[in-house]
Amino acid sequence: MKDKIDINSNDNSLFVTSQCNNKCLMCAQPPKQVDDIDFYFQKNLSLIDTSPVDLLDIGITGGEPTLLGNKLFELIHHIRLSRPNTLIHILTNGRLFSDINYTKSFAAGGTDKLLLGVPLHSDFSHDHDLISQSYGSYNETMKGLYNMARYGLDIELRIVINKINYARLPKMASFIYKNLPFVKYIAFMGLEDTGYAIKNHHLIWIDPADYQEELEEAVLGLSDWGMNVSIFNLPHCILRKTLYNFAKKSISDWKVKYIACCELCTMRGDCCGLFSTSRKQSKKLATL
Ligand code: SF4
Ligand code: SF4
Repeated sequence: MKDKIDINSNDNSLFVTSQCNNKCLMCAQPPKQVDDIDFYFQKNLSLIDTSPVDLLDIGITGGEPTLLGNKLFELIHHIRLSRPNTLIHILTNGRLFSDINYTKSFAAGGTDKLLLGVPLHSDFSHDHDLISQSYGSYNETMKGLYNMARYGLDIELRIVINKINYARLPKMASFIYKNLPFVKYIAFMGLEDTGYAIKNHHLIWIDPADYQEELEEAVLGLSDWGMNVSIFNLPHCILRKTLYNFAKKSISDWKVKYIACCELCTMRGDCCGLFSTSRKQSKKLATL
């Protein structure tokens, strides 16, 4: 956890709890059953109070932030009062938003300058629940997404690509276009090979070089249909050239690394680099 918010960092996130109601096979921050909410709440209030007033955005992450109950509302309120122009980006699995009353209360605190990043693992409920390791989570997350839209909350859909879901990426793109056209952003994300991803390596690891065909079809399809689609955490030397314009420098500055072949690479300025935290890297990394 950070001791200070740094305006020059590309990742100023408040870590709010280690608890989560999912147990995703590739979770980089494996959930823990610990009573840590009050501790982090007090710590985060001080971090907000000492943060730069012109901070562009601040993340709220865990674990699952909605498990804070009213304390999440208080935290958001605290940011809004002291940093009214800062975008609040909350990473949530969206399950608690399946309760319409919860969503209504959440939205009552204001929907402006707020973005909910929600992982959807597949258009196929079985695969989503397998990846989240929580039976019924697909239905709750989907219902949550509709409730968020109903109350005017901005959504960033996040798809972490892995061995279980990569083959359906084109189908998933079509599913999103037809059923979730209201989402503001869609991000296809490379896997960070750490935490549970190491334990479940045989179930979820696929070299990103091996799913480029499916990724290209999904991304170009969504773009042609007018949706705002991006690629996170995948370096340019793995991507097909048609995907370069969608790739973002998405890896947090405190965990990004570049390796020997990056030194003379012409794409280094645009490339997101690699997770220093990942145990395994693609076999296709090469100077461009
Ligand atoms: S929802 Fe997020 S924090 Fe919870 S287990 Fe899944 S990846 Fe980890
Ligand atoms: S060689 Fe390094 S800088 Fe170049 S595209 Fe690959 S990862 Fe990025």
